[in-house]
Amino acid sequence: MKIENVRNFSIIAHIDHGKSTLADRLLEVTGTITEREKVDQILDDMDLERERGITIKSHAVRLLYTAKDGQEYQLNLIDTPGHVDFSYEVSRSLSACEGALLLVDASQGVEAQTLANVYLAMDHNLTIIPIINKIDLPSADVERTKEQIEEILAIDASEALPVSAKQGIGIENVLEAIVRRIPAPTGDKNAPLRALIFDSWFDSYQGAVVYLRVFDGTISKGMTVRMMSSGKEFEVGEVGMLRLGLVPVPELPAGSVGYFLGSIKQVSDTKIGDTVTNADHPADMPLPGFKNVKPMVFSGLFPSTGSQYEHLRESLEKLALNDSSLTFEPEMSEALGPGFRCGFLGLLHMEIVQERLEREFDIALLTTAPSVVYKVIRHDGSEEYISNPARFPDRKDIEWVEEPLILASIFVPSDFVGGVLKLAQDRRGVQKSLQYLSSTKVMLAYEFPLNETIMDFYDKLKSATRGYASFDYEYIGYRKSDIVKLDILLNGEPIDALSALIHNEKSYYRGRELAKKMRQLIPRQLFEVAVQAAIGTKVIARETIPPMRKNVTAKCYGGDITRKRKLLEKQKEGKKRMRQVGRVEVPQEAFMAVLQVE
Ligand code: GDP
Ligand code: MG
Repeated sequence: MKIENVRNFSIIAHIDHGKSTLADRLLEVTGTITEREKVDQILDDMDLERERGITIKSHAVRLLYTAKDGQEYQLNLIDTPGHVDFSYEVSRSLSACEGALLLVDASQGVEAQTLANVYLAMDHNLTIIPIINKIDLPSADVERTKEQIEEILAIDASEALPVSAKQGIGIENVLEAIVRRIPAPTGDKNAPLRALIFDSWFDSYQGAVVYLRVFDGTISKGMTVRMMSSGKEFEVGEVGMLRLGLVPVPELPAGSVGYFLGSIKQVSDTKIGDTVTNADHPADMPLPGFKNVKPMVFSGLFPSTGSQYEHLRESLEKLALNDSSLTFEPEMSEALGPGFRCGFLGLLHMEIVQERLEREFDIALLTTAPSVVYKVIRHDGSEEYISNPARFPDRKDIEWVEEPLILASIFVPSDFVGGVLKLAQDRRGVQKSLQYLSSTKVMLAYEFPLNETIMDFYDKLKSATRGYASFDYEYIGYRKSDIVKLDILLNGEPIDALSALIHNEKSYYRGRELAKKMRQLIPRQLFEVAVQAAIGTKVIARETIPPMRKNVTAKCYGGDITRKRKLLEKQKEGKKRMRQVGRVEVPQEAFMAVLQVE
């Protein structure tokens, strides 16, 4: 196919505005999937993704469309991850495109992720086609949504396309707009190869399958390619295009989107955003925008029975094969024994990994509360990045501590602004702007310490706004902060896995609340248990768990056998997640308790 007839595009939208549904329609209308193959939301092909209704990894698919001008076009739809944890991947996927469909729910209007994604698309000079979705809903307000697109996003909405992805209304217009408005890719076929990696996944037979967009030159079977970030070289065993599966072709010229295989044993060699070049005729400069992504949130993962340690290690290795942003290293906890310190891009990424370990690999996990990465400067001037509270140096050795910050944008109906301001203040937020977008909608910009937003911030925001607030953020760097280590002692023994790093201002209050929480969460034992909270050597709170023989069935009056059995089973289930710490049995919830303290 001639390059003039190729279109590379993405769909950008706030979560739930209908991106997957629209993608399905485009696949259907172009006959890319037949009825028989049709599974709802075919692009979200991981169970977990489907359940959570989010796209975690990006995918790509080639559609063939005969336009009204009688010509056949090749439309490459590059799907983007739908969550802020993966914004770097979103930016790389967008940079593989010339255009983006901007999808806005006509009943919700523009939301935080809409704005964040539009900024990314504008950074890449993409042609943006506004699409107003869900026009079938009685609450749809197409005019109002157009106004918001113009006012908030500064995008001309006069030619916005009204559609209902669900009912299949207006889909043909979307395809025509892609062909007419999005420019064909340009690129120098004769220049040295430069191709952008926008995704990769690991296949146990073929090695890494690398998704790329060719900007210059041609990639073909048999060629030796070089990854420009690492200098590693691979022989290209196969190149091809992305239909619903992989379809080999002899070569991919400039402008195309496709994949290559090269017996690559680990996905960490196929970094997203890296440039693939021809090893024999390398390009002078890589494509712009490559970043080595670093994990921002860390947590300790421990098997709840020691015998699963090896299995946990192998499982993490398997997951990491396909997820180069997941990091892990062995950790020895005094309380929990051997486990792993794992790094994640954000909270969602963490939850996904933990859930997959439990579900797909059948591991009962004990996880410690997530922590951000602090920068600690010692008196001797040495710097250290610390994410594990157990490794936090003694206060007397520390010159100062810095913590990571984010810039958050929050969209909220004006009725709820008060609640958001209060929450933001509780979380040490610094207001940067407050802007009325209309009489009913407000956009707030706040700087927050990252650690304040990993403490159930999102849930609190949702409950303060009856679910209406939307939230997006970016990292903006480190700032000096008064961070201290809060220890929890059980019968006088500090428990490393229960330590947390928090702001000094909140430490006394949190320490007291945490001790109370522990008293509620830790079941009575055969002996008395003293729970203490301490900062440095100073004990700031004490609670006592009185001794009692545990007998849950005593609570069931009379002979309701099934209920009794259920309770016993539940207790057994719970037991799996109990850990003997010294002499005390501590349940999983206690390790996360710091997140629940108001
Ligand atoms: P995504 O998060 O952007 O991928 O959104 P989905 O495609 O998963 O859609 C979110 C929800 O909106 C689903 O329940 C869809 O069925 C629904 N939805 C999508 N498009 C439409 C539409 O045009 N009309 C209506 N009424 N619902 C829609
Ligand atoms: Mg989706």
